[in-house]
Amino acid sequence: MEEKKTCDTRGDAGCSAEKQKKDESREEYADRRRLDATLCRIQKKIVVLSGKGGVGKSTVAVNLATALALNGLRVGLLDVDIHGPSVPTMLGLENETLKGGPEGLFPVEFGGLKIMSLGFLLQNPDDAVIWRGPMKMGVIKQFLTDVQWGDLDYLIVDAPPGTGDEPLSICQLIQPLDGAVIVTTPQKVAAIDVRKSISFCRRLAVPVLGVIENMSGFVCPKCGEVTQILPTGGGKKIAEDMEVNFLGAIPMDPAIAQSGDTGKVFIYHSSKTTTGKIMQDIINQITDDLDKTKKLNS
Ligand code: ADP
Repeated sequence: MEEKKTCDTRGDAGCSAEKQKKDESREEYADRRRLDATLCRIQKKIVVLSGKGGVGKSTVAVNLATALALNGLRVGLLDVDIHGPSVPTMLGLENETLKGGPEGLFPVEFGGLKIMSLGFLLQNPDDAVIWRGPMKMGVIKQFLTDVQWGDLDYLIVDAPPGTGDEPLSICQLIQPLDGAVIVTTPQKVAAIDVRKSISFCRRLAVPVLGVIENMSGFVCPKCGEVTQILPTGGGKKIAEDMEVNFLGAIPMDPAIAQSGDTGKVFIYHSSKTTTGKIMQDIINQITDDLDKTKKLNS
């Protein structure tokens, strides 16, 4: 009996899923076809990385995904920050649970976004995820192969911090990745890790779309003036040194912290503020850059 095909390579001989590799078992090949079948339907895939936790990576991922969805694009947001899945809280979706069918799991749909997060699978938000490496890798893979993402214009991936096994598997599984956005805070101790993130992307041939320096200065909630209360510029300097794009500096803004806690996405509710305009400008640069790269390659 002929094996059921899960990936229609449309007879494209260039498609990596068309043939079983020599060193691949039937099971591995079937898995790869399923993964390719998902990824083939997603136009652009962006990963948001950071060297450390707590620098605003999820904030950037949520706002970027929301801004794209507000422009009428079909957007998926995949939260694979396994040890700190904050995306459900940031979108006010803590009480959502996942539904599944014979074809797999359905992402939670909200305001034009399709969202998948480990947070939806934890029974209690206080639960700690204590998994060994292979289990984490298995979940990351399942989030891509067993979730019905459908046709998407963009998939934004909120990766775990650092340059360890988990971000590595994400970058290896999601092929090709259109680019990485690296988030840091301005302090030297955090910004130094940006170098590692940039080198990580270079080694994996993931284009760096740029560096964002978050929590850079403080924006007055009354007049919108930005004051540099602490040293700034660490992220910008490293971006320049390593010849990658510096996308901009987002100030510390009480409204961002509040939006994250209350599930009211900042870019939706505060796009006209000083910080909202800075964030929108950063998002525009990311999408313009991707469009340019696409034109160059087509
Ligand atoms: P990470 O994903 O890097 O761990 P988060 O995006 O979860 O970081 O951000 C950590 C905390 O800092 C969250 O409470 C978030 O709302 C807050 N935050 C992020 N960026 C800013 C900012 N520019 N101004 C104020 N608070 C911020």
